[in-house]
Amino acid sequence: RNQKRRLECRPDIDSLTPSFLSIYNSLIPAEEEKAKQKRLILSLEKLVVKEWPDAKLYIYGSCANSFGVSNCDIDVCLAIECDGTSKSEILTKLADILQSENLQNVQALTHARVPIVKLMDPTTGISCDICINNLLAVVNTKLLKDYAQIDGRLRQLAFIVKHWAKSRGVNETYRGTLSSYAYVLMCIHFLQQRRPAILPCLQEMEATYEVTVDEVECLYFDQVEKLKNFGARNNESIGRLLWEFFDYWAYRHDYANAVISIRTGGFISKREKDWTRRIGNDRHLICIEDPFEVSHDLGRVVDKYSIKVLREEFERAADIMQYDPNPSVMLFEPY
Ligand code: ATP
Ligand code: MG
Repeated sequence: RNQKRRLECRPDIDSLTPSFLSIYNSLIPAEEEKAKQKRLILSLEKLVVKEWPDAKLYIYGSCANSFGVSNCDIDVCLAIECDGTSKSEILTKLADILQSENLQNVQALTHARVPIVKLMDPTTGISCDICINNLLAVVNTKLLKDYAQIDGRLRQLAFIVKHWAKSRGVNETYRGTLSSYAYVLMCIHFLQQRRPAILPCLQEMEATYEVTVDEVECLYFDQVEKLKNFGARNNESIGRLLWEFFDYWAYRHDYANAVISIRTGGFISKREKDWTRRIGNDRHLICIEDPFEVSHDLGRVVDKYSIKVLREEFERAADIMQYDPNPSVMLFEPY
């Protein structure tokens, strides 16, 4: 595979940037959408605290991590002391409450891998999934959001990569391809690796934010307003970064040995993590370390068939970026 690797980028690469930026602009949600989401969460919280006075609702996922396109569903986490009550009992109760308040399509999925209640708010049309005590997701949402504030190119790159992955059908964990969360981690890692670096490694810096969730210590530097100029010494355009991103995953990543790790700002070997062989259903064919749950490989959903699909898509994208006269059209061609 590596023999196909190209050494020279097309000379007109920077001129592709405006077309990608206009796609990015068409994907970002309007401010009023954020306000609507906030109002919905507040009204849901009112209903919840009537039953559980100490409970709190947090938004996580793409609506809160700044990597969400417009009209996305909202992911909500109900933080609650369970003492003795099972999650499914709480979810069933929650579904009853929501149903009686005229929310629509209310469904408790108590047997899902992550049990949730689904609902749709008829006044705004917003759909939302509520899970219980998934606080690590709330913390990793904040980490992603903090990274996004350091350099605007992260948000642009990640939007375009997510849009590509959705258009090409490689953003479906139930079919063995990667989650949006995994793609954002790949983008952060990639920008940490540019020279000069476009993003720092917040977890290697002095900790200004510290929480322990489910016995996992989450520590990192979160005063990101002080890092606004971090990437300024690197002036690579979005066109070039996209070219490099796909070239990296198509032709240069060491799938056999390397784990990408935004926690360390670099690479770890699979051997060191003991991710060299299949254990249960975890095959470790593409390895992306979770920044907090370090035993967790976001690539574990990928199997021997889907790794092929994924790598062929990276190659297709890399080749389009190199040779196509109009990459911003072909890249997103529905599969
Ligand atoms: P989309 O725009 O596709 O809905 P999203 O940012 O909501 O994207 P998801 O992959 O649906 O991304 O994940 C939602 C959130 O759940 C993530 O932001 C992350 O906080 C958490 N999450 C998802 N998958 C994992 C995982 N495998 N391990 C830990 N946290 C995860
Ligand atoms: Mg989501």
